[in-house]
Amino acid sequence: MASVEIRSVDKYFGSVHVLHGVSIDIRDGEFVVLVGPSGCGKSTLLRMIAGLEEITKGEILIGGRVVNQVPPKDRDIAMVFQNYALYPHMTVRQNMAFSLKLAKAPQSMIDERVGRAAAILGLESLLDRYPRQLSGGQRQRVAMGRAIVRNPQVFLFDEPLSNLDAKLRVQMRTEIKELHQRLKTTAIYVTHDQIEAMTMADRIVVMQGGNIEQIGAPLELYDRPANLFVAGFIGSPA
Ligand code: ADP
Ligand code: MG
Repeated sequence: MASVEIRSVDKYFGSVHVLHGVSIDIRDGEFVVLVGPSGCGKSTLLRMIAGLEEITKGEILIGGRVVNQVPPKDRDIAMVFQNYALYPHMTVRQNMAFSLKLAKAPQSMIDERVGRAAAILGLESLLDRYPRQLSGGQRQRVAMGRAIVRNPQVFLFDEPLSNLDAKLRVQMRTEIKELHQRLKTTAIYVTHDQIEAMTMADRIVVMQGGNIEQIGAPLELYDRPANLFVAGFIGSPA
């Protein structure tokens, strides 16, 4: 696990200013949830942490190292998306092994890592199936498996549950939290669902229009919202 420091980060797409001097200090092993309405800049910030989007101004540090110029594959992070797009022509085992194969990891390490991830996620009996033979929840677990095998220092989640039905969403929330407690990896989790934020976060970062409105523990935001936007957002149903 590793700390993640976001220092006065700005993002422009051309002349459009989408992040305005955003700063967040995330501790080793912390589970931080970025929450806010659609278009407020959550995915852009996450993609900048992952190295998939250039930082216009400011710095991002992972484990105390400035990573602005570090390519994604050297950042020790793994990302789980909403559209987790498993490779349809590959089995569960091959899906999970793929990034390690690309990195030319030895087969013994690949087997060990895939076996461990499958055990953690309860996928052992499904390793030889294809994605089309899996339920939505199982597919989401495979997507997490692909992230776990890389032994990342930091997990990034971008609305990983928003394609699942309500019941499964509640179950997967618990699973992700259990996974986090077990691996103790730093996690940054993006959602527009305030219930998800309130139930999963050590701390919540409330964003609006490229700005941070408040950072705090769930109860803190609930009891002492910094402004009407936070109060309205935390208080309203998903
Ligand atoms: P969120 O994830 O909170 O819904 P995003 O980070 O996806 O928000 O988007 C923030 C803003 O940046 C939006 O106004 C969006 O239209 C804009 N944006 C995102 N990606 C690009 C891009 N590649 N080019 C231009 N504008 C973009
Ligand atoms: Mg988004």
